[in-house]
Amino acid sequence: MAFDVDMIQRVYANLGERVEAARQVVGKPLTLSEKILYSHLFAGNGSAARPTEAFERGKTYVDFAPDRVAMQDATAQMALLQFMQAGRPQVAVPSTVHCDHLIQAEVGADKDLDVAKNKNKEVYDFLASISDKYGIGFWKPGAGIIHQVVIENYAFPGGMMIGTDSHTPNAGGLGMIAIGVGGADACDVMAGLAWELKMPKLIGVKLTGKLSGWASAKDVILRVAGILTVKGGTGCIVEYFGEGAESLSATGKGTICNMGAEIGATTSIFAYDDKMGDYLRATSRAEIADAAQAVKANLRSDDEVYADPASYYDQLIEINLSELEPHINGPFTPDLAWPLSNFAKAVKENNWPERLEVGLIGSCTNSSYEDMTRSASVAAQATNKGLKAKAEFTVTPGSELVRFTAERDGILDTFEEIGGVVLANACGPCIGQWARHMDDPTRPNSIITSFNRNFAKRNDGNASTHAFVASPEIVTALVIAGDLTFNPMTDTLTNEAGEQVMLDEPAGIEQPLQGYAVDDAGYQAPAEDGSGVKVIVSPTSDRLQLLAPFKAWEGTDLTGLKLLIKAKGKCTTDHISMAGPWLKYRGHLDNISNNMLIGAVNYYNDKTNTVKNQLTGEYGEVPAVQRAYKAAGIGSVVVGDENYGEGSSREHAAMEPRFLGVRAILVRSFARIHETNLKKQGMLALTFANPADYDKVQEDDSIDIKGLTSFAPGVPLTVVLNHADGSSDEFAVNHTYNEGQIEWFKAGAALNIIRMKQGANA
Ligand code: SF4
Repeated sequence: MAFDVDMIQRVYANLGERVEAARQVVGKPLTLSEKILYSHLFAGNGSAARPTEAFERGKTYVDFAPDRVAMQDATAQMALLQFMQAGRPQVAVPSTVHCDHLIQAEVGADKDLDVAKNKNKEVYDFLASISDKYGIGFWKPGAGIIHQVVIENYAFPGGMMIGTDSHTPNAGGLGMIAIGVGGADACDVMAGLAWELKMPKLIGVKLTGKLSGWASAKDVILRVAGILTVKGGTGCIVEYFGEGAESLSATGKGTICNMGAEIGATTSIFAYDDKMGDYLRATSRAEIADAAQAVKANLRSDDEVYADPASYYDQLIEINLSELEPHINGPFTPDLAWPLSNFAKAVKENNWPERLEVGLIGSCTNSSYEDMTRSASVAAQATNKGLKAKAEFTVTPGSELVRFTAERDGILDTFEEIGGVVLANACGPCIGQWARHMDDPTRPNSIITSFNRNFAKRNDGNASTHAFVASPEIVTALVIAGDLTFNPMTDTLTNEAGEQVMLDEPAGIEQPLQGYAVDDAGYQAPAEDGSGVKVIVSPTSDRLQLLAPFKAWEGTDLTGLKLLIKAKGKCTTDHISMAGPWLKYRGHLDNISNNMLIGAVNYYNDKTNTVKNQLTGEYGEVPAVQRAYKAAGIGSVVVGDENYGEGSSREHAAMEPRFLGVRAILVRSFARIHETNLKKQGMLALTFANPADYDKVQEDDSIDIKGLTSFAPGVPLTVVLNHADGSSDEFAVNHTYNEGQIEWFKAGAALNIIRMKQGANA
């Protein structure tokens, strides 16, 4: 139904030739990551090219052509609103939307899903209709969590995808390079543009031995997080290999790759092996397993790499699975890793609340059939050994396929017998969508999850909640004990008859013996011809707004621009476009623009969100002052300090100033992704040639930008500051626009160029 066999066959048909060409230009044997990256170089309109040059890891920016795009419902809104601007009849590469983030967990799956469908109706209607129109697969609310649905349906060995969610690397469990990006990147790839990435460095993780007992795949990544910490993987792909890797199920590999996001890795990946073949066959993709088997040599690193990994990876780690203990990580950060045998001591020494109040299993990280059966084997022991679960227990299936199969096989009954509440197949408590009922939310308390992140407030919004992360089977054991200091490997529990009993080691099944089953997977295929489909957006909606194209450059230098704000110190994308309560306006550019720069500190009064309106002389909120300039037909300039726009890749931080009429951002230096986002939106992104010129900018300045009529790569522009006292300063400003990006500026936005090419402007 869902996967695209033809596309995958095309990737495999070119793979051998491209890998060989890459080997020639690189001049040595290749790792798996290099094989996939070099076989996905951009050649135009979403297609890939043959490699002709080598790229330096950690240095060179490279244009790639991913095979797929996946979007979750929160980030898909602006990505798709922007995509409409491209004027294409269909997306350039296969793409999907997944409704998972907007469903709040409260009482249980059915009721919670009904509430969400009602509350988010306009967003779901919009996403369903725009998907239908542009050839995008649409997974309805309740169908499942993006990454579980992707690994079940779309991930394939040797492929490359981007997804608008940080845990997109989950698909590395099926040998795919899968990377989390912002909505603007997704829009570009769907529109047929290149996707740019700095050639990643490579961390090799050699897994020897074999897991046993209570240890699971989750413990591999909990251990790796302890070694590398939350920043250790930044700019790197983590590649797992070795006999230990081949012993792990594909979904176990997915769990490890999923949580690579917790160490900041660009992505994580495993080589193709029989376990992946088993999973592909179990999920009705035997054709892909056969095709992958036929090109297996190119879906793993060259033999020389495995023989001498230290020579090919930038960093090498070795873990013996036979000696790996279960881990519990936390609280408040996923890299605080505790082997189970040390955890009880850590709980006591740190005065963390010992009583476990809630255990939560499932999510995109850990809800495979194997996870469910291993956890159920622990849960069943409570009933069989006369124990009662002492903590609350929730189960979040990752997809309807897993949920339906687990229900058929009695697994959900087993959880319910110990008080488990099955939640909707959605993110829910993993992303703070949890209406947790507590007597006192400020009371320090402990919860444990099989999810991936455990930052303060992440699950229930309460700063006093101590959240720990472990495998689902360890979570289930601790739910039965109701005590964080319980170690199921060594400790006994007192049952209802007063006897001391121990829990046996978990036992699981990788693939269901009767196969997977589902009644309604929740998938809506797009229309064959979407030209007649109308995108549904209510004109009165405060959450969604269709975009109008940004205007083209007027063809002259810019004069008489007002200084909007001279931002002092750090100005991240959070300062420029705050998250939190503004998240619900992510699909409504006008409404979300009311948060523009409200977190930036005004250089002249050290206050946030208070700038001088040069038209009235009065101080007002930044968005309001900018709207006054816009109403008067006057452009403006934002001045900033070093590394302006660091943080997330959020495109809103570039779109809002563009929408409200800011013409240039002039700073000491830019965070690179934000600089690119500004260029894509048709904005001028400029840097002081002499950083000391930042000091020349005065509060009442009118600003001219000269040299635009001969705007060219490598040629500085000139800025004139016309001060209120009649004096002026003139200096050079630099830019990094190439020819193509200058065309984006002239057309008003990158998407305007695509639309013109599509003839939609004719
Ligand atoms: Fe992200 Fe959690 Fe949803 Fe996974 S379950 S996609 S980690 S919010």
